[in-house]
Amino acid sequence: MTKRIAILGSTGSIGKNALRVIEALGADYKVTALTAHNNVELLAEQVRKFKPKIAAVTNPEKLDTFKKLLGKTEIEIHSGNKGLLAAASDKDVDVVIAAIVGAAGLEAILAAAKAGKILAIANKEPLVIAGALLTKTAKETGAKILPVDSEHSAVFQAMQSGNAKEVNRIILTASGGPFRGATKEQIQNATIEQALAHPTWNMGKKITIDSATMMNKALEIIEAKWLFDVPVEKIEVLVHPESIIHSMVEFVDGSVIAQMSGPDMCLPIQYALTFPHRVKGITKHLRLEEIGKLTFERPDMEVFKALKIGYEVARTGGTAAAVFNAANEAAVKEFLEGKIKFVNIVELIERCLDRHDVKTNATLEDLILADKWARNEVKGCLSKTT
Ligand code: NAD
Ligand code: MG
Repeated sequence: MTKRIAILGSTGSIGKNALRVIEALGADYKVTALTAHNNVELLAEQVRKFKPKIAAVTNPEKLDTFKKLLGKTEIEIHSGNKGLLAAASDKDVDVVIAAIVGAAGLEAILAAAKAGKILAIANKEPLVIAGALLTKTAKETGAKILPVDSEHSAVFQAMQSGNAKEVNRIILTASGGPFRGATKEQIQNATIEQALAHPTWNMGKKITIDSATMMNKALEIIEAKWLFDVPVEKIEVLVHPESIIHSMVEFVDGSVIAQMSGPDMCLPIQYALTFPHRVKGITKHLRLEEIGKLTFERPDMEVFKALKIGYEVARTGGTAAAVFNAANEAAVKEFLEGKIKFVNIVELIERCLDRHDVKTNATLEDLILADKWARNEVKGCLSKTT
């Protein structure tokens, strides 16, 4: 049966890989909707090649340029957040690949869940912010949430060999990022270039900075909690610099099931599209004799304090994760614009969390308000110090 696919954020690192995967999978996989925020040149190219039913430009200022680039066309063109929602819930879409970066993808993911779609989620931030709401909605509508994040895809694959009650521990692996083994002093003033130089993965800028602070792993702990419905105490992080084992599940009998492959997002994207089946793909196969050895070490939670805070936030629940995520997004933006030091990112997150009154049993409105509050708080802190 043909799978009709919407890619939210088709011009990003995950979005482009998703299109490569779909092209290689052949005629049973059809692109129905594509969306992009700024890069309308690439979006126009993708639209000409994949001929979707819908294209959406989420930044309304770019709409005219996009229309000019495309010329006379049969496709439906949408803009702004409405466009995103149209792509996520269109009746002709079966699978939504969520590949937007940050909280901006939240409403569209919820809309797809409400519409009962298959959701292939790379965009982890909405799961972090609103995991309770999202998983509840999916249960009600029958929407299937399939992880694309490599660690969670690995856990999901390992889970196929036991049942949820038989899980003892989830072990999320982390490359350690560019500052693995560094001291606090060494990374205080890390430059943008140093923080963007990821040793194993080639990804968008925001997640690459998150990998350098290990905020990415902190978000992934919360993501795993919601995706696999396990208590935080059962989720561990292990640094594995080779990025070959993407994560593991330890079952009650002591068996540890690990998923291995090279660091290439095409594989987890493909698995989410073809699940429950496996087909030949474009990912290069592993030759373990060429890799030689796989190593593991405990993460240093004093140097990478984001991880420690991540565990606390995961335990706290409510609006805490929305603040944790939004403060990070705001701080990373400031860092990438050269306005704050590397060390300030996590300091700002901590400060926001300290000042926030957590609301439990949060509604979507509460979460959106907490997100806004944290972004303002970051701005406020910075205007006081400059
Ligand atoms: P990216 O920056 O390369 O691409 C982001 C995409 O989102 C672009 O298509 C852009 O047009 C769109 N976008 C940006 N801002 C938007 C907004 N305000 N509204 C609507 N659309 C917007 O990011 P990426 O690296 O592809 O990451 C995407 C998501 O996948 C992130 O949540 C990231 O954490 C997650 N992820 C990425 C990787 C990876 O290998 N890149 C791996 C695992 C998880
Ligand atoms: Mg990951």
